[in-house]
Amino acid sequence: MLWLRDYTDKIREHLKIGDAKSLTYAALEARLALEHVCYDRLRIAHKYISNDDLRTWRPHYVVRAVMEMVDTNIASEWTLSIGSVHGDNPTEYLKLGTQKGFDPKYVSQLWQAMSSFLHCELPKNATSAIEHYKAENKLRPKIEEVLNELDRLAEGTVVASMVFQQVSFDCVCGQRNSRSTAVLKLNDIFNCIKEGCKEQYRVEKMGEEFLFERHLIPVSCYNCGDANGLPYRQVCELDKGSEGWKFDCRKCGKENVFMWKLKQFKRNDKDDASLL
Ligand SMILES: [Zn+2]
Ligand SMILES: [Zn+2]
Repeated sequence: MLWLRDYTDKIREHLKIGDAKSLTYAALEARLALEHVCYDRLRIAHKYISNDDLRTWRPHYVVRAVMEMVDTNIASEWTLSIGSVHGDNPTEYLKLGTQKGFDPKYVSQLWQAMSSFLHCELPKNATSAIEHYKAENKLRPKIEEVLNELDRLAEGTVVASMVFQQVSFDCVCGQRNSRSTAVLKLNDIFNCIKEGCKEQYRVEKMGEEFLFERHLIPVSCYNCGDANGLPYRQVCELDKGSEGWKFDCRKCGKENVFMWKLKQFKRNDKDDASLL
């Protein structure tokens, strides 16, 4: 991960100057570097996961999500080697590269420490000053700890998502989606990987075969009562101030419109709510 040297060089320059202002800039570079390390593991897994499947952008969570949904070894250390001669049982191997592993929890602690340095100090009372930078003796040790971790990670020569068995299907938008069978679970719901597509799929299983069912909400047609399946996310993310969403019933062809409506409820003795 040679690109990490750009960050570590800048961090070293700021550490060399050593005043609180420079150390704060070092903390910023260190924080960015930690984020870059984590997001890089997401980038290489993006064929198998949508950003919409991430509940937050926090770096360690992103790594955890990739571990759960794509490759459990995305943050592990391994070396990739190839047999030096063609055949089933080569006796010598050529080393192609090593992925450096890291503990997402430890990276998270470092990232939070760096983040805490990037805020002004809250005043304790009406007369206390608002400190612009943290004290140098607080900043330096933790930044040096991050630098050690970044130097170690920079020695990695390869990063890759190891998906050995996958299953694929085409979304209704036309995008081919693939998922690693090693981590797929029955009833998992995930998003199409195409940016902007709101389609979701539920994992079903028939014997050993995985199937993907569109995640839909049944909406009954006002005219014929037929249950039309509408994309779950598109319904849930319908703008509350909009004029509604229209669809033509698949059975009778009548136009249906629906929208969010605020309703008032009254609590009764059993603490149930009844519609007014
Ligand atoms: Zn799609
Ligand atoms: Zn109808």
